[in-house]
Amino acid sequence: MFELRIQDEIASAHFLRGYEGKCKNIHGHTWKIEVFIVKDNLNELGMVADFAVLKQQLKEFLMGIDHINLNDHSYFTEINPTAENIAKYIYEGFSKVIAPLRLNKVNVWESDRAYASYYE
Ligand SMILES: [Zn+2]
Repeated sequence: MFELRIQDEIASAHFLRGYEGKCKNIHGHTWKIEVFIVKDNLNELGMVADFAVLKQQLKEFLMGIDHINLNDHSYFTEINPTAENIAKYIYEGFSKVIAPLRLNKVNVWESDRAYASYYE
């Protein structure tokens, strides 16, 4: 298998409902986003896909959750915008953007020391 990894980042606010701790108050993160795309063969150019295209597609997709309060986003009105749920949101949405390419995993870094992954 071949795997590509694309990285970008967004700056967004959130707070956690029903959580007793500092994160119940609104605060922001610069979230580092990593997406992993896998394919078992290459095209005639020797690529899984064009990095430039994928980077642009990821940037455009992430614009929907950049510089907002994530709790105001329709996806997160019921579920908490944790790193885990943000990873799932990106997985579900970005999978459709890059289809038929296969998204293998999404990592969402909340800080330099902690990230959550989602994959199926
Ligand atoms: Zn937080």
